[in-house]
Amino acid sequence: MKLYPLFADLARRPVAVVGGGKVAERKVAALLEAGAEISVHADELTPRLAAWAAQGRIAQRSASLDEDWLAQAWLVIAATSDAALNRRVAAAAAARRVFVNVVDDAALSSFQVPAVVDRSPLLIAISSGGAAPMLARLLREQLETQLDHSLGALATLAAGLRQRIRLRYADLSARRRFYTALFTGPVARLLRQGRPLAAREAAEAALAETADTPSGSVVLVGAGPGDPGLLTLHALRALNEADVILHDQLASPAVLALARRDAECIDVGKRAGDHRTGQDEIHALLLAHAREGQRVVRLKGGDPFVFGRGGEELEFLRAHGIPYEVVPGITAAVACAAYAGVPLTHRAHAQSVRFVTAHCRASLDTLDWPALAQERQTLTVYMGVGQLATLQAQLLRHGRAPTTPFALVENGTRPEQRVVSGPLAELSARATQHQVGSPALLILGEVAALADTLAWFGAPPLGSTPSAAPAMPTRRSPATASPNPLRPRAHHA
Ligand code: SAH
Repeated sequence: MKLYPLFADLARRPVAVVGGGKVAERKVAALLEAGAEISVHADELTPRLAAWAAQGRIAQRSASLDEDWLAQAWLVIAATSDAALNRRVAAAAAARRVFVNVVDDAALSSFQVPAVVDRSPLLIAISSGGAAPMLARLLREQLETQLDHSLGALATLAAGLRQRIRLRYADLSARRRFYTALFTGPVARLLRQGRPLAAREAAEAALAETADTPSGSVVLVGAGPGDPGLLTLHALRALNEADVILHDQLASPAVLALARRDAECIDVGKRAGDHRTGQDEIHALLLAHAREGQRVVRLKGGDPFVFGRGGEELEFLRAHGIPYEVVPGITAAVACAAYAGVPLTHRAHAQSVRFVTAHCRASLDTLDWPALAQERQTLTVYMGVGQLATLQAQLLRHGRAPTTPFALVENGTRPEQRVVSGPLAELSARATQHQVGSPALLILGEVAALADTLAWFGAPPLGSTPSAAPAMPTRRSPATASPNPLRPRAHHA
């Protein structure tokens, strides 16, 4: 270890910053947060620095090197673009044994300023020892996305209880267990939900309890449509903290790969013979694992509340007194539309969107066909691959124009995404021709025509004209970029 890490208490302590530009401004901003008494040595200041000086939050001094101020300073930061001046500042500070940092010059510096993730009072500081500041910055960004903002409040709460926890758990390993439960259980969850009072009560209750009763919980997590980049930060955190993950068939391997290594993954979407884990069995599994005190993630494709039976699961958990959270996900309609270049609404073409499911004949019978067949709206149909002929016939029967464009998105957002487009009159025939399989989402409405020109991800739509789809050629597979002889759509107009 070349550098010795330390956190300096600079509150009301004089710190000198040499330089008045953008870099100096950034350093001053951080020092202000630390409560330092700052003098800025520069003849010219950025507008923001000048405003702080006018407010009396910092003092402006002459840029010329003046030994007097150095005598008072606890720390010096040289942030000028004048290399000679920086060198003189560094030498003068060293002569007085004042720690000095010369921005971007590790050799001249006696201390380094780390990249910081601030969850005050919790602070994470990262240094590459001057070797690769960019790497430290990258790491900082990654931690920034992984560490919930409520961690600061959690640390503060723990600080308030520290004495009592120490008294209550004299034994170190028991104390450690208590802290682990405090930091990963209901208290942390309540803080994440922005409920500090309830969190405090839960912590008090845990401290008053005589026995260590484990308290499990369930997080209903939307895994999005498949591309792991479409996960939310909350989803990522839940996957990282999970003891058990109960996932659907739709949860993609790329998403599951992000889960905690030693989390137990249970595929409840798998068919064993003719048997798929029933909803009752899923409920029983959720309950059993939560009652064992485990942090259970119920991972669902897309969004848990869009054709995902998330509501039923929450009702069940609530009835059994199991605490739960819900992390929304990007639902298939929204994701497939984006990855197919189809804006679901468009001022010129569609003023509303409907999310419809067509997973069986019975569900089709209950649909309001006259309403669904209206113009200037977009229909997105989930679980409809098996019912396309009926869908097509019903919409035509209720007056939707045969030329109404559709885009059928198979495996949306995944590397193997395919889009089949065409007019409503040919929906079923084209799906059969291209052997569209599950999962696929149907987008029907005037906006679907835009898939032919706005597509950007994966292969161009099957059914589009060769001149269409100019964007991002590098992300297309050349094998599928050949002209397609099907259509043009104008023939059907
Ligand atoms: N809760 C999920 C939907 C579950 S129903 C969500 O919000 O997306 C399952 C249906 O979703 C599939 O039959 C298909 O119509 C659609 N779907 C899910 N993922 C998809 C994907 N990657 N590409 C295309 N359709 C998808």
